[in-house]
Amino acid sequence: MGIYRKVNNVLTRRLPVNTVRSRAPRAIASLTYDDFPKSAWTVAGPIMDRFGVKATYYVAGRFCGLTEDNIEYFDIADLRAVAAAGHEIGCHSFSHGFASKTDNGTLLHEIERNAAFLREHLGDIAIDSYAYPYGDVSPRAKTLLGGAFQSARGIYRKVNAGMIDLAMVHSIVLEHRRWRPDEIEASLAHAKAVGGWITFFTHDVGDAPEDFGVTPERLAWVLERIAHHGIETMPMRDAVDLIVNGETQAEAA
Ligand SMILES: [Zn+2]
Repeated sequence: MGIYRKVNNVLTRRLPVNTVRSRAPRAIASLTYDDFPKSAWTVAGPIMDRFGVKATYYVAGRFCGLTEDNIEYFDIADLRAVAAAGHEIGCHSFSHGFASKTDNGTLLHEIERNAAFLREHLGDIAIDSYAYPYGDVSPRAKTLLGGAFQSARGIYRKVNAGMIDLAMVHSIVLEHRRWRPDEIEASLAHAKAVGGWITFFTHDVGDAPEDFGVTPERLAWVLERIAHHGIETMPMRDAVDLIVNGETQAEAA
């Protein structure tokens, strides 16, 4: 990584945009899929069902119906099935470009175009959660996109705790090219100890995943370890609700 990008990334992380002190009463987890390869539903769906887990799918409309770089992406039937099963549909821009290189007008057009695509097929759904394509963001793009959604998720490998900037939610990747179970286990223990919010992201799920995907066995292992720590997994929007509002009387009853 060049020095410009390093400086940009540090400045972006440190710029407060939507910072809250977490009111979550205990550690929580979220599982997310970027780009929505078809197998994130067809293969991962039954695994999540076994653990009673609902995830967040960050959809970029451009991928609908495509097969690109050996990855078969979702189609309309997959999109409808995921939403009907109670998973959250989030936004990942429409074209999946680099936010730091895209002007604000185009970024807004991107999220409006993606919302129109989602609502054409899912009805008038709320789109509360965003993930930066490639984790790429700048102070300008963070200010814009972090202000447009309840949360915006990056790819910085860290547990969220204490003061959390919802415009830059940190997330731990589950990826085939570098599988790090020790780091995942340590992060879960840390989240549990500090009452933090641990989020994971991956892409395709299969026996021979691409570099940025995960095998079914490893995904099941992660869900088992989360459950082992007594940490509840919930979609991003529900986690944000708990972080911002704490546990309401009704929920606590
Ligand atoms: Zn992506």
